[in-house]
Amino acid sequence: MLNLKEQEIWFVVGSQLLYGPKVLDIVAARGKEMAAYLDANEAIPCKFVYKGTIKSNDEVSAIIREANYDEKCIGIVTWCHTFSPSKMWINGLTHLQKPFCHFATQYNVEIPNDEIDMDFMNLNQAAHGDREHGFIGARMRLHRKVIVGHWKDENVIKELGAWMRAAAAFSFSQRLSIVRFGDNMREVAVTEGDKVEAQIKLGWQVNTWPVGELAAVIEKVTDEEVEAKVSEYKAAYDIHTDDLHAVYYQAREEIAMERILEREHASAYTNTFQDLWGMEELPGLASQHLMAKGYGYGAEGDWKTAAMLCIIKAMTQGLGGGSSFMEDYTYHYEKGNEYSLGAHMLEVCPSIAGTKPRIEVHPLGIGGKESPARLVFEGHAGKALAVSMIDMGGRLRLIVQDVECVKPVMEMPNLPVARVMWKIKPDFREGIRQWIVAGGAHHTVLTYDATVEMLADWAEMMDIEFVHLSESLTTEELKKELRVNDLLWKLS
Ligand code: MN
Repeated sequence: MLNLKEQEIWFVVGSQLLYGPKVLDIVAARGKEMAAYLDANEAIPCKFVYKGTIKSNDEVSAIIREANYDEKCIGIVTWCHTFSPSKMWINGLTHLQKPFCHFATQYNVEIPNDEIDMDFMNLNQAAHGDREHGFIGARMRLHRKVIVGHWKDENVIKELGAWMRAAAAFSFSQRLSIVRFGDNMREVAVTEGDKVEAQIKLGWQVNTWPVGELAAVIEKVTDEEVEAKVSEYKAAYDIHTDDLHAVYYQAREEIAMERILEREHASAYTNTFQDLWGMEELPGLASQHLMAKGYGYGAEGDWKTAAMLCIIKAMTQGLGGGSSFMEDYTYHYEKGNEYSLGAHMLEVCPSIAGTKPRIEVHPLGIGGKESPARLVFEGHAGKALAVSMIDMGGRLRLIVQDVECVKPVMEMPNLPVARVMWKIKPDFREGIRQWIVAGGAHHTVLTYDATVEMLADWAEMMDIEFVHLSESLTTEELKKELRVNDLLWKLS
């Protein structure tokens, strides 16, 4: 799994030789001071490293070559303390392959009324430098983040930290491998997609592995390994079943699946209840426990949602609200009290639990296999996002909707799966209409941690379509946006 603290964001300060060594020494010292200050702030999830003050075309090109080549570097943040003529940035930025943030900040907070003179103006001209630097980003049509504000402002630091999370997810995405145990569920449309396009755009390696091979690995798991895994379950969850065989079998499945994922350097996987050849149970508890460890999972062969889940988990590492594979199931249409009920056949991640998960065993109803053990719990309350990636044919669309999860308003004692209830923004009927108009899937990633900004930044880095179904959006505006997007993506 990705460790955010091991990733580096490089801080590159723009200047030029015109100012002479005295000014450039001050600029460099301040760049170092600012990088150290930000690096120590807890809202900054990655290492923030001062990489120098660049003063010429050759220096820009050299630092960008190094950034592209260095595996630890996941993006660059530029800042112009002084004026840095932007033609010297063109050759370098043309070749930049990593996320780019233009940090429009300045060293001092206030203009020193009494002391300000032309020496001060020559040294402190970030506002001047920002505009030249901004122009070349616009002129070159670069994907970039522009963050504005003083570098000690906590909101500014948070914005920078959130962008770093998106940059880390960009890097993670480039190396992401997804194991498909079997194919997609028969006849389902939205879980399909162009895997070649996904690899070109997003870097994802999406490949299939025979379920029969998984079944053979399951058989080879030792009893000692299974005992150790069941001890983990007992430490984390309450056991509410006498059918321990089903629990032990899930442990066996989990160990076997993780063995293959590790062997293939994969961070996400899919399976389907329609292809469990040689297996006794659909993995339930097994998949839930793997999701809790950070793996991405998509049911019914849904590799796009599996990938998005582990990307979002990587992006939001350490935030603690949780993210899960989710499915929209049933509406509660009581007037003025409308809710959506989300769940799945089994596979909801316990990272979003609001109650201690209970291990229970119940028949599955479909799939024709043994009754699987699964975790049953209620999701916790809080603001969240529903995230769906769909293949529009020719492009990928990432849809994000604002939802408000609540403590489930009903106990539903006979529902044998984990469940979450949420309200939809701007209001129930309008929100659902917009989701359907945009083509959002029934499978989603439900995340309490990722923000719209993080996902929008990530989508821009990835060069894919991004649609935010926000509280203030109307269906009319959405339809216009989607029509314009259709045109733009045809042209690009
Ligand atoms: Mn499903």
